[in-house]
This record gives sequence, C-alpha cells and structure tokens, in this order.
Amino acid sequence: MNDITSKARIGFIGLGIMGQHMAAHLLVAGHPLAVYNRSPDKAAALVAKGAVACANPAQVAQQSDVIITMVGYPSDVEQVWLGAEGIIAHARHALLIDMTTSSPALAKRLAEESAKAGHQAIDAPVSGGDVGARDAKLSIMVGGEASAFDKALPILQLMGANIVHMGGAGAGQHTKMSNQIVIASSIMGVCEGLAYAKGAGLDSAALLQCIGGGAAGGFQLNVMGARIAKGDFAPGFFIEHFLKDLGIALAEAENMGIDLPGASLARKLYNEMADKGQGRLGTQALFQLYMAGV
Ligand code: NAP
Repeated sequence: MNDITSKARIGFIGLGIMGQHMAAHLLVAGHPLAVYNRSPDKAAALVAKGAVACANPAQVAQQSDVIITMVGYPSDVEQVWLGAEGIIAHARHALLIDMTTSSPALAKRLAEESAKAGHQAIDAPVSGGDVGARDAKLSIMVGGEASAFDKALPILQLMGANIVHMGGAGAGQHTKMSNQIVIASSIMGVCEGLAYAKGAGLDSAALLQCIGGGAAGGFQLNVMGARIAKGDFAPGFFIEHFLKDLGIALAEAENMGIDLPGASLARKLYNEMADKGQGRLGTQALFQLYMAGV
C-alpha cells in the first residue's frame, strides 16, 4: 500500500474554513486532488492551484484512492458517505477518512458499512483551529483499525503535527469530545477573566502578554483572547458548530452516567447567543455575552 501514500490520488469533500487549508497542503505535497463542496465557489482557489472540481461525492470517489471528508454536521457526513451519490457506494476499495467533528456512533456505523463495501475507514477529527489547519499543525485523533491508521499516517502528517491512534472506530470522535469538553470551560474562563480585567480598567494587550505566559496560558487565552482584545469576533470556529459538539458530548456523557456541569453551562450560554442570531460568530464572541450587562 505504499503507493497509497506516495502517489495516492486524494479526494477532498468540504472546503470550508478548515478543509480549504487542509486540502491545499495535499496539493502542495504533489498529490492529484479531486474536490467537491456544496457551494461550488469554495473550490475555486484549489482548482486554480491544480485540483479537479467534481459535481458530487460520487465523482470524487470514482477517481480517488483516499477520500477525506471535512463537512459540518453528522447529517452532512451521513449524506456524503451513505447517500445514493455517496462515497461508500462509488469508491473503489479506497481508504475513507472522516475528519469532521461528528458522533462516535456514526463513526462506528461508517466503519462497518465501509468494510461491507470493501473499503477501510477511519475517524480522524482534528484540533488546532483555523490557525492549525493553515499551518499544518493540527492535532489529529484517530479511531479505526491499526492497518488503516498506518496507511493514512503519511497523508495525515501533511496536515497535522500531533497524530495519535486512539483505538477502534469511534475512538477518534470520543477523543474530540473530550477535547471539546476541555475547551468549553476554558473559553468561559477566558471570557470571564477578560471581562473582569476590563471592569478593573486593565489594558487587554498587556494583560494577555502577562498572564498568557503563566499558568493560565494556552490556545483559548493566547489565540482567542488576542482576537477578543482586538474586537475580532469573526469565525475561526463557528458557535453553531460548537453547539453541535456540546450536544454530542453531553448526550454521550449522559449515556455514561457522567455529569458535565461546565459543558452544560457552556451550552446554555452559547444557546443564548444562537437564539439571538449569533451562531455564525466565532466562539470567542462569548465575551460579548459577559459584557452585555456592563
Ligand atoms: P465550514 O466552514 O462550515 O466548512 C464545512 C464545509 O463543508 C462547508 O464549505 C460546507 O459547504 C461543506 N459541506 C457541508 N455539507 C456538505 C455536503 N453535504 N456536501 C459537500 N460539502 C458540504 O466549517 P469548518 O470550520 O471548516 O469546520 C468543519 C468541521 O470541522 C466541523 O465539523 C467543525 O466542527 C470541525 N472543526 C472546526 C474547527 C475550526 O476551528 N473551524 C476546528 C476543529 C474542528 P457550504 O460552503 O455550502 O456551507
């Protein structure tokens, strides 16, 4: 299977904030690339660099050895993988990789359906944000058979810097849920700390320089905090996608009999924002909710 990695023809479906950058790295590495996105205009930049635009997932599947999906919601993943024009039905003994943040149960089902059709499948969601995708520094958490992980690894290494095989099908998505649970309380803490500092009349840039290098430092404070300080609430990561993730994580936790008060509170606060029509802002816009009463 060495050819899968060196000369593999790769298909990429879902060219949004993340997929756009991730697919570009594959093209730069010299892989023939077939692409498809629901809104076709998002394929234009990659096509200009040599990718082949396809009209549906089936066309991508027919010309690819490895097919990667990075769409929005589990329902999008189902459509692209299991639909009549989907990749399972139209791929030819391919390696299928879902990098969308989606449900562990769906990841298991996709692995089973893929195996029945003669494909291998892994779930490989990511962390590291739009910056990590742009810089090929993503953390990638993988669920699936070891042999599929080994085949995928050289391709995943073109997009990520920290790639871990977490277990069987669904283990990647469970790992991503754990990641999102950590982020839920972290981003609330960042917004609270910055709201407090503003109330105390402190300079936000100086604050970040000071506490960003101490025990509070990390991606949420250093990257999202810096966006808050600049008044930049544009999406690196959509609130509506975070609500999707928190819904999956809280449902899985309930099945396990585990209470997650931090994630529950984050979902309540982000729901308030979505109800006000702010679901397409970035998650750092939660700061606006903390400042709303000031
Ligand atoms: P995004 O900008 O909305 O990208 C998703 C893309 O998939 C969109 O361009 C969308 O098309 C396309 N798409 C959706 N359904 C499709 C379908 N059925 N067929 C073809 N294309 C379809 O979102 P993103 O920020 O890149 O995130 C992608 C996934 O990664 C999400 O699951 C998200 O939770 C996860 N994630 C995001 C980040 C982040 O920081 N942004 C970090 C880690 C993980 P349209 O253009 O028509 O909408």
